[in-house]
Amino acid sequence: MFECVKGTKDILPEESFYWQSLERKIREICSIYNYEEVRIPTFERTELFNKSTGEETEIVQKQMYTFIDKGGRSLTLKPEGTPSVVRAVLQYSLHKKSMHNKFYYIERMFRQEKPQKGRFREFTQFGIENIGSGSYFIDGEVISLGYNLLKNLGIDIYVRLNSLGCDEDRKKYIEKLKIYLNDRKNELCSDCKERIERNPLRVLDCKIDSGNLKDVPDIKEFLCGGCLEHLEKLMEILKSMNIFFELDRKLVRGLDYYTRTVFEFTSSSLGAQDAIGGGGRYDNLFKNMGGPDIPACGFAMGMERIILIMKKEEKKEPLLLYICTIGEEAERIGFLILDELRKEGIRCEKDFLKRTLKAQMREAEKMKSKYVLIIGEEEIKKGRLIFKDMGTGEQEEITFSKEEIIRRLK
Ligand code: AMP
Repeated sequence: MFECVKGTKDILPEESFYWQSLERKIREICSIYNYEEVRIPTFERTELFNKSTGEETEIVQKQMYTFIDKGGRSLTLKPEGTPSVVRAVLQYSLHKKSMHNKFYYIERMFRQEKPQKGRFREFTQFGIENIGSGSYFIDGEVISLGYNLLKNLGIDIYVRLNSLGCDEDRKKYIEKLKIYLNDRKNELCSDCKERIERNPLRVLDCKIDSGNLKDVPDIKEFLCGGCLEHLEKLMEILKSMNIFFELDRKLVRGLDYYTRTVFEFTSSSLGAQDAIGGGGRYDNLFKNMGGPDIPACGFAMGMERIILIMKKEEKKEPLLLYICTIGEEAERIGFLILDELRKEGIRCEKDFLKRTLKAQMREAEKMKSKYVLIIGEEEIKKGRLIFKDMGTGEQEEITFSKEEIIRRLK
């Protein structure tokens, strides 16, 4: 017997409903905000991620599925979407066709992490990339899209916000941070001891060490006038949009390319893996990848984590009608009614296992059907059907016609 590989999973019908519903809502909100879909390849040249995600990041150092193909090329299953979108913009010169591009994607990602609840090795991200403007209004729009999507799904979230400043600000801050961390090196976990030189910002969001870093220098004090103004104007606009956020000076995000704004969507419903998604501004990435100087901002959300919350809230789409039949002739008539109603766009179902009436009623309840139609031999003789409202429990005999059933369902 084979089982799926550790860290991967099958999406079975009991769950695929949630996926379809989430994908529908994502496409709806992206259309409202005027974002267009892009679909990117499953693998890219390894160099792309080394150069953009960053050589020193956890993803590139430890988590990429990299292999040499038969032509001797080093390829990597994509661990995140932004590098591919940036590559595609440059490859097809999309920035020359339009000065402002707004894209979204729903894509599988691959990271060799330790699997646990809400953490897989193959997972799905919904992401958006807003390319071409450095305005703080864009950061506001990007955060607002993610926030409103999650709010519309009934998910309780808040936004953690920080600014990493520009290259110069960060350089100055990292210098101070390294001194601070070296002074406390003995108190840090073994991973963070190594990070001091390679990737000191990452120490700030280490779950193990966060308690030890209470008096860490605040990056806000190192921001230049332009970066500080960007942050303050963004906070002002978020407040005006009634977006609930919290400034978190320890939020750094794991990737190399962020400048100025970084943020994360967090939900208390998730426990340890509480981040639903995150993103930020990446004003230098295009330039670093050999393109022109194009500012951009985006985020990525883990769809498995959103589904975990949706499932907790049991939002399965109910049936409108379940048809119970007793006997061969009733089954034939029930089947034809089912067919007629489906042609009218009505979500309905019946039993095909010749179960007892009691078992059929139980099935109707399980499917959360709003109404039940009962067809028995007696009813056929009388030319009448039993129509039951499962909400109120009331039932009555109705005439045997499609129009009458539809009238009651509507
Ligand atoms: P990141 O850009 O790495 O912060 O990822 C953005 C979001 O993707 C996270 O907040 C998670 O919701 C989701 N995510 C990241 N890694 C995984 C994983 N291994 N399994 C499931 N979801 C993940």
